[in-house]
Amino acid sequence: MVPDLPDCCPVCGEDKEDLAHYFVECPRVARFWLLASRFLTATVPAEYHTSDAFPITIDASAVVHGFDRWRKILPNHAALHGLAVWEVYRAHAETALDGRTITADAI
Ligand SMILES: [Zn+2]
Repeated sequence: MVPDLPDCCPVCGEDKEDLAHYFVECPRVARFWLLASRFLTATVPAEYHTSDAFPITIDASAVVHGFDRWRKILPNHAALHGLAVWEVYRAHAETALDGRTITADAI
């Protein structure tokens, strides 16, 4: 049975909640990707700072297609992508089902 969910975003109230909003555009999620970009950039060893892939800036394409563009400078890039997308899904579902709003910093 599928729960009866509202059509609007339970986090920000946006009327149109499609996949782009859910995983990229919602202000809380956009802040999460910004924070994740900064965190992952900080983990890249100095010898890779001259790489074309540096710094790490997670955009909509990276959310959809994965972190493969950083495969040479970011160990476990595929696992990190999967975990990050999962956390976005989990946080959104918790808000929708339980009314708990987790901040971008906490995600
Ligand atoms: Zn939203």
